[in-house]
Amino acid sequence: MPRKKYDVEINFSWCKRCGLCYWICPTKALVEGDLLYPKLQDANKCIGCLLCENICPEMAIDVEERKEAVEVGK
Ligand code: SF4
Ligand code: SF4
Repeated sequence: MPRKKYDVEINFSWCKRCGLCYWICPTKALVEGDLLYPKLQDANKCIGCLLCENICPEMAIDVEERKEAVEVGK
């Protein structure tokens, strides 16, 4: 079974560059980028632990499971 994949959305207009998200990310999918903003280094490394989303004081991160298949009809 293929491993689940995740999209990590960062709202940069809310981000205050505290660094907590990339400090806590266990796989370093998120790393420190320019001017202390978080940078999604490798989305494929994200394991969907939600630590970054939960620790962000500005609620600037949204992690969603990626939907690979397109749903057709009902
Ligand atoms: S959900 Fe977990 S693995 Fe994915 S970017 Fe956030 S802290 Fe890193
Ligand atoms: S935890 Fe939130 S506010 Fe802090 S650097 Fe990450 S995205 Fe920005």
